[in-house]
Amino acid sequence: MSIENKWHHLTVESITESLGTDKQHGLSPSAVNKHREEYGSNTLPDKAVTPEWKKFVSHFNDILIYILLVAALVTLILGHYIDTVVILLVAVINAVIGYIQENKAEKALEGIRNLLSLQATVLREGIRAEIDSEHLVPGDIVILKAGDKVPADMRLYQVERLKAEESPLTGESASVEKQTAALPEETVLGDRTNMVFSGTSISSGTARGIVVATGEDTEIGQINRSMKEVEDMKTPLLQQIDTFGKMISIVILVLALVLFGFGLLIHDYDWGELLLSVIGLTVAAIPEGLPAILTIILALGVQTMADKKAIMRTLPSVETLGAVTVICSDKTGTLTKNEMTVKSVITRDKLINVTGTGYKPEGELIEEETDESAAVKGGLKALMTAMMTVNDAEIQEEEGQWIVRGDPTEGCLITLAKKAEHNCEALDLLSKIPFDSEYKYMAGLVEEEGQKKIYLKGAPDRLLDMADLEAESEERAYWEEQVRRRSRKGERVIAAAVKVVDSSLTEIDHEDVSGGLTLLGLTGIMDPPREEAIEAVRVCREAGIQVKMITGDHKETALAIAKQMGITDHDDVIEGRELDLMNEEEIKQAVSQSDVFARTSPNNKLQLVEALQKNGHISAMTGDGVNDAPALKRADIGVAMGIKGTEVAKEASEMVLVDDNFSTIVNAVREGRRVYDNLKKTILFILPTNGAEAFLVMGALLLGLDMPLTPVQILYVNMVTAVTVALALAFEPLEEGSMSKPPRKADEQLLSPYYIFRILFVSLLIGGIVMWMNGELQQTYSLAHVNTVTLHAIVFAQLFHLFNVRNERHFSLNRHFFENKAAFIVSALLILFQLIVTYVPFLSEALGLYPIEAFYWLFPLGLGLIVFIVVEIEKYLTHHVFKRK
Ligand code: ADP
Ligand code: MG
Repeated sequence: MSIENKWHHLTVESITESLGTDKQHGLSPSAVNKHREEYGSNTLPDKAVTPEWKKFVSHFNDILIYILLVAALVTLILGHYIDTVVILLVAVINAVIGYIQENKAEKALEGIRNLLSLQATVLREGIRAEIDSEHLVPGDIVILKAGDKVPADMRLYQVERLKAEESPLTGESASVEKQTAALPEETVLGDRTNMVFSGTSISSGTARGIVVATGEDTEIGQINRSMKEVEDMKTPLLQQIDTFGKMISIVILVLALVLFGFGLLIHDYDWGELLLSVIGLTVAAIPEGLPAILTIILALGVQTMADKKAIMRTLPSVETLGAVTVICSDKTGTLTKNEMTVKSVITRDKLINVTGTGYKPEGELIEEETDESAAVKGGLKALMTAMMTVNDAEIQEEEGQWIVRGDPTEGCLITLAKKAEHNCEALDLLSKIPFDSEYKYMAGLVEEEGQKKIYLKGAPDRLLDMADLEAESEERAYWEEQVRRRSRKGERVIAAAVKVVDSSLTEIDHEDVSGGLTLLGLTGIMDPPREEAIEAVRVCREAGIQVKMITGDHKETALAIAKQMGITDHDDVIEGRELDLMNEEEIKQAVSQSDVFARTSPNNKLQLVEALQKNGHISAMTGDGVNDAPALKRADIGVAMGIKGTEVAKEASEMVLVDDNFSTIVNAVREGRRVYDNLKKTILFILPTNGAEAFLVMGALLLGLDMPLTPVQILYVNMVTAVTVALALAFEPLEEGSMSKPPRKADEQLLSPYYIFRILFVSLLIGGIVMWMNGELQQTYSLAHVNTVTLHAIVFAQLFHLFNVRNERHFSLNRHFFENKAAFIVSALLILFQLIVTYVPFLSEALGLYPIEAFYWLFPLGLGLIVFIVVEIEKYLTHHVFKRK
């Protein structure tokens, strides 16, 4: 067995020595460089990537191309060599377009995935730093906390109640408790409790360890299971379109066969010509480009969202987002600024106000009664000591700005203690219980003046319960009154307590503090609402989206903030412990009545999401901790915090907020509605062209007329529109008034009866007029001439129709007409292409077009105008006249 596999068997000392590292200081920059050269970077090769040529070739594997190849063969046999070349060219171009679009969508998603790279907290040269886990090297000292993904294989040397979830490696989903002692050499992977492994996650506790293996040398690297997830590109809507497309293809093929038989038997066509026409029909009617365009719209939507600080982790959720009916949001840091300032301090005998704002340790503690500076001694000093000692945060001045490293709630307590000046100091912790939103307190064991004590800080009601005070006692009444007084102002109240314990105690657990505490005092912390979140709440109201505040904070605090933000206007607040006692029906009831939930535990979030879903809601739920993962997974849109969220929470969610801001969720919902609308509009736009073309070909065959367009021309029309106008709708802004409508129904059928009517109507409109025009022209002009006018007519009809479709409900010539620049650019491009194929001799010959005189452009132009006007009238009638009745 090589040394690589014996890390669990070695002592920590021998490992630090062999890797040239140091537990207190970590590696030096030169050692980091040396190790990087030796071991490479901490990455795994991507999952077997499909080579580019294979991706390209895969675009030939589709019915359209098969049909085209058959068509090419037929033309070859019939000796129409130009057609053969053009059809083959079209097949290639089609594959190229498909390939480029797929690539573009993939690139967009990949870029977004890279935004979510894994971070690790390391100790280098004695300084704590956050680095990309990719840059870790063996010998690095890494600090782990609950919710982290383990970034490399590590030997642990210090653990505080650490548990790891190792199912990616062992398949065992129960968390494994970790320790630091060396283990026998033969210990199997699942039992190596003094190590943690890359790709697993920390479910609770904190720890420090030495990186012993990175990249491909890690256990997960060796079993070669990449940690990168594969994105699912198929959204419900795309699936619907896929099946729909398959259905149309079959119908069309059957139709084509019938027509072929009909033409052969009744009209006595030449079978070769007939075959070509039928192939033309088939090609005309199948909307092959549609799925690719929809994927592009989704991918562009994902990109826009990322630019607006909402990172979508899966493509399908972009669609779901637009249907969200309720947003459940954390309060602290999402609705509020997470800029904490202690405003008040309360001890057994003093009420103190604190001046100053932010984390800058400048300000004074003023006694309310005397209006004089408070002396920091006795009870007040003990309170300060507790707040500083049981605290993981640090405050630092950076470029003139005071910032927090760690939890802002804790950071502001450090600021407070520094304002109190001199005689407050943090004591060394012998053992600690980290803060957990389940228990809502944090505790640390210290030795002070020869005594062992446990200091605690946490939610006042929790600490009061653990203080063994009589329910009716005067002391309890005093504290409760003070908590209420501060909470009503929207302050977040944190209490501190102490308990003297037996000197033999070396490690503490929740049982050690379950009773016998002495309360030292309270601090009231102000955390103002985010202004933009207040506005976002208003937007939600208007858009028919409910906002629920779910917080671990006190009832009164939650209510005060909820009212300031317009989340609720009544005093109905439900506490977590009330939810715990309710049955399913009662929770369903509660969740529809109340908007504010206080003193909740992560499990309450899960209960609430489930109840909302049973009430028929599509829910977005925010979260940051490990314990939030089940609720995030369950929610239709799990929303993880990008800044304070744990890796585990991020992995469980559909969306990550770069700025932890509530208004970002609302912006994303708006973007979701826009994307969905544009997907629908694109379908509404593209299908009628196929419909009209099919109608023309079929009509001509049935009536025994000359073909209005040759197959090659039909192919050209589909191709040129796919690369130009079809993309315009991806850039269409959200239609006016769309955020004052209720969310769409989740089970809404994509092709509503109205949509089907509209598609048929426009197909017949375009098809009918072109057919009539065709009939008129055929009497006087040569076929090439007529074909040319027909081709332009269809293209122009589509061009004008684009401007109809841009607005679903509103009159299209409105003040937003020029907002979508893309629509005009692609239109100009399309016209340019039309001119080129008509007047560049070689191209016009290949397509069988005739360089028409300027006058004949009036036909397509007139037709386009008619389509535009008729569809606008239809829209007006449908949405304004008939709706009103
Ligand atoms: P939220 O994030 O919704 O505000 P938390 O679960 O973080 O809720 O906090 C709940 C309560 O726990 C707070 O009201 C506060 O009293 C207490 N608390 C919060 N953070 C800490 C901490 N770091 N240490 C001790 N107590 C805390
Ligand atoms: Mg919190």
